[in-house]
Amino acid sequence: MKIDLENLTIKKAHEAMKNGGFSARELAQAYLNNIDKDLNAFIVVFDDVLEQADEADKRFKDGTAELLTGIPIAVKNNILIKGKKTTAGSKILENYKATYDATVIKRLKEKGVVFIGGTNLDEFAMGSSTENSAFGVTKNPHDKTRVPGGSSGGSAVAVASNYALVALGSETGGSIRQPASFCGVVGLKSTYGAVSRYGAAALGSSLDQISPLGKNIEDVEIVFDCIKGEDKMDSTSIPDKIYKEAEKDVNENKKIIGIPRHFLKEGIDKEVLENFENSVNKFKELGYKIKEIELPNIEYSLAIYYILMPSEASTNLARYDGMRFGFLKEGENLLGDYMKTKGEGFGKEVRRRIILGTYVLSAGYYDAYYNKAQVLRKMIRKEILKAFENVDAIITPTTPTPAFKIGERTKDPVQMYLADIFTVPANITNIPAISIPSGFVNMDGKELPLGLQIMTPHMQEKLLFKISREVLS
Ligand code: GLN
Repeated sequence: MKIDLENLTIKKAHEAMKNGGFSARELAQAYLNNIDKDLNAFIVVFDDVLEQADEADKRFKDGTAELLTGIPIAVKNNILIKGKKTTAGSKILENYKATYDATVIKRLKEKGVVFIGGTNLDEFAMGSSTENSAFGVTKNPHDKTRVPGGSSGGSAVAVASNYALVALGSETGGSIRQPASFCGVVGLKSTYGAVSRYGAAALGSSLDQISPLGKNIEDVEIVFDCIKGEDKMDSTSIPDKIYKEAEKDVNENKKIIGIPRHFLKEGIDKEVLENFENSVNKFKELGYKIKEIELPNIEYSLAIYYILMPSEASTNLARYDGMRFGFLKEGENLLGDYMKTKGEGFGKEVRRRIILGTYVLSAGYYDAYYNKAQVLRKMIRKEILKAFENVDAIITPTTPTPAFKIGERTKDPVQMYLADIFTVPANITNIPAISIPSGFVNMDGKELPLGLQIMTPHMQEKLLFKISREVLS
């Protein structure tokens, strides 16, 4: 039997598995058969996929199956699954096997999902193209000479190419939304604290968030509902009580969209702007009111992000010292061990950020850079919250350009960082944001997807999903 993977949704798959249309094993096998190794979406495809599917089939037989039972999911390879190789895209973890499950994995396991494999990513999630992986670049399925975006490039490709029905990615500064946009899928970045960070390789701890990617809003929402919620293993996870209170405020009739037009000026492709205007018109047709808003300091978001994120990353990455996670290159003494282990275990971008981060945090520069960035981070947060007093959601393009060519930006880190210009404001202000497919642009004879970004106030993912569903319909 041929399963129509292209048009499958979680609910459709569930119905079919329940009614005997196909089994979880057949579904898992269909995805496995579909994996095109040339795109390099996975660092590891698990060897027990069919056994996991058999367990799911048992649950369908004994009546304990739930909506997510048997659903094939790809997981960014910086999220721990007990016993599985978890590399974070780095040579320094190339042989590391996770010793425990991340909270999100534990929650998904309870539902009986089927984990297909660990997806490729920029090393330690630092990058916007998946070119910084120690395990080779992932290719964009819409044009193999282009990048899939990053850092969750493998997860976006896995969903776009039907190697899994849904995927998990992680965000610190756009790492789900940007690849989702480049690959034509839906990618969520939830409110900071909505989903437990326990068991995800730490990058920028005040920014990190695990969230799902999928082909439609409903699938993303189902996975989000499963993984979200208070967790005693992550002290920054938001208590359920507070979340529920906030969700009560969501008024289904919210229809005012804000656009910071002054922010959509420099360095944006003409095609991206045209595509964005089409989305704006769609909102108008749907009866939304469009309001121009001013976010005076938002243009500094990128600079702030690239000060704070390396600072936090440099402290988080200190733990890879050759003593704990397997990879060790011996030097002449202890310092020599550190130098060799980190020098050979980490790639260029990771080393760049560690150096940048330690510089920014050093006495003498701390006030000039780190503290200043913190002050501005707070100001931008205030500005966004103020804007939300008059509008219900804010929209921008997800990225200033469609997917760029492999190799095009690797020599110029600033060009690479510019890919994150529209996504990082949501990270530094901790609000939820989503990228949804907004059409295609033709480049060199290939149709490349573009994405629309929608942002709502903290803890208002429900509103985000509702608006997204309406615009996508
Ligand atoms: N492009 C961002 C960076 O390089 C993405 C980080 C992320 O979200 N993990 O830092």
